[in-house]
Amino acid sequence: MLYYSTNNKVKDVALSDVVIKGLADDNGLFMPDYIPAIPSMFFEHIDKPEFRDLAYTVAYMLFGEDVHANMLKMMVNDTLSFDVPLVKVTDNIFSLELFHGPTLAFKDVGARFMSRMLSYFIQRQDDRRNVNVLVATSGDTGSAVANGFLGVEGIHVYVLYPKGQVSQIQESQFTTLGKNITALEVEGSFDDCQALVKSAFLDNDLNAAMKLTSANSINVARFLPQAFYYFQAYAQLKKISEKAAANMVISVPSGNFGNLTAGLVAKRMGLPVKRFIAANNRNDIFLNYLQTGEYNPRPSVSTIANAMDVGNPSNFARILNLYGYSHHAITTDICGYKYTDEEIASTIRECRSETGYLLDPHGACGYQALKDGLKEGEYGVFLETAHPAKFNETVERILGEKIDIPEKLQEFMKGEKQSIPMSADFASFKAYLLSKA
Ligand SMILES: *Cc1c(COP(=O)(O)O)cnc(C)c1O
Repeated sequence: MLYYSTNNKVKDVALSDVVIKGLADDNGLFMPDYIPAIPSMFFEHIDKPEFRDLAYTVAYMLFGEDVHANMLKMMVNDTLSFDVPLVKVTDNIFSLELFHGPTLAFKDVGARFMSRMLSYFIQRQDDRRNVNVLVATSGDTGSAVANGFLGVEGIHVYVLYPKGQVSQIQESQFTTLGKNITALEVEGSFDDCQALVKSAFLDNDLNAAMKLTSANSINVARFLPQAFYYFQAYAQLKKISEKAAANMVISVPSGNFGNLTAGLVAKRMGLPVKRFIAANNRNDIFLNYLQTGEYNPRPSVSTIANAMDVGNPSNFARILNLYGYSHHAITTDICGYKYTDEEIASTIRECRSETGYLLDPHGACGYQALKDGLKEGEYGVFLETAHPAKFNETVERILGEKIDIPEKLQEFMKGEKQSIPMSADFASFKAYLLSKA
């Protein structure tokens, strides 16, 4: 399968280059030339196979031409070494728990899959030098990428994070790993970290001295595998009730919209999703677009669902492209809701007292959007994108109860923090990287 850029100047690019480059040379996002259709027969028996086998079928449709079947199977199995259960919360609302991976957030799947695929393509290149992944993080992305790439051959990861501005749990998830993961503690803000990474990608000396790439959610190998979740949602709901599956609405807590876009691709492949809901916090640029047809990015505001604090969602270009730039077509498939911090807090409280289910602040937006948006006869699945313990300080403050920290998180916190202090000034970052080349 070949890929083109949403900016239309670049086309016919092979998957290997798409994954190694990340962003197209015309600054657009890569899209597959066509979205393969899965025969409808497949959906009749979708509740039979295991999640991994189901995911492999989807992966094969998307990547089967470009990756050897055995290797692709290994990538999928390696990525999905944990459960993705569907949990009933109310009579017509279900939670698809995407937080049973190594760092307890949904980005684990994309990061793990991408690391395997990147390593596969690097090993097939003439230039066999190590690839250096640079990632700026405000918390969650860094932990998913660091753990996803841990120990993967041929790749070194540098995580840049703002000193004193990520939670202790998050920090422990990328500073205690060692091996091919180096944490750089930047004297500055998240924006400074991002600026350092951007300057590095544009710097001629650095690019001549070492191979650099990014691991953010614009990478096809990170965003597309998230389509697996939607097939799992349908398969699990069908096991519970045929009628529910036939009337399934999926609500996605959204920031950069990678996760939701993967769901839209799943639907285009033939997955019977009735419609989607994009759940937002106060960063409601996408909702404004749905309501007005105008897209006006603006600086993000910080909220208690901070992994969704995005003012210019990077995958918006993909959504437009997928729907032929038709506002009407987009609003037929997707509607939106937004919630303030106070509303998120009362949703967490109400859901806990009425159903016993413990939401994290991101999942809470997804759940509330179903409460507000489901119509008669519809069944809702929201993607619970993070374990509530990842945001334990916030959730404990809201509920006034102690949250159990899962074993996996406790293990990280026992590790020894190793990080390299870095100023926010590009010259010193560049000198540091060159010393590693
Ligand atoms: C990244 C993230 C999101 C937003 O996902 P996008 O694909 O960027 O829309 C939602 N919830 C959590 C917990 C996240 O880490």
